[in-house]
Amino acid sequence: MNVKSCRKCGRMFNYIAGMHICPPCREKLEEKFLEVKNYLRDNKGAGINEVAEACEVEPQQIAQWLREDRLELTSDSAVLLNCDRCGTPIRSGRYCDKCRAEMTTSLNSMARAINSNGASPANAKKPGGAHGSGFLTSRK
Ligand SMILES: [Zn+2]
Ligand SMILES: [Zn+2]
Repeated sequence: MNVKSCRKCGRMFNYIAGMHICPPCREKLEEKFLEVKNYLRDNKGAGINEVAEACEVEPQQIAQWLREDRLELTSDSAVLLNCDRCGTPIRSGRYCDKCRAEMTTSLNSMARAINSNGASPANAKKPGGAHGSGFLTSRK
């Protein structure tokens, strides 16, 4: 059994998975989610703070739903998030398209560096490479 205290009301509850909040609070949150969703549908130009106030939800909670891609925003919606990496306004998720593309590219080039052996910064520090590169080449 995994007992945790609820992040919202502090009550102890039997934690199973997901958010650290108790079932009654989770239910309430789910109701709020629907309220926010409806509000956004009816008030397309509403900003995140306006929605938070109207539905009595914390702006951070709304931001979290957006990051989880649970709330859908139309292109004319005023609700915006900021990219975790560069701060560019985005509509959902954690990163803007540019950062997402850059991160994919840098992951790929990192993988390439490892595969081509010795090109990664870690290996560049020890010129001999007697230790480091051995196990990478041995897989070939
Ligand atoms: Zn609770
Ligand atoms: Zn970005």
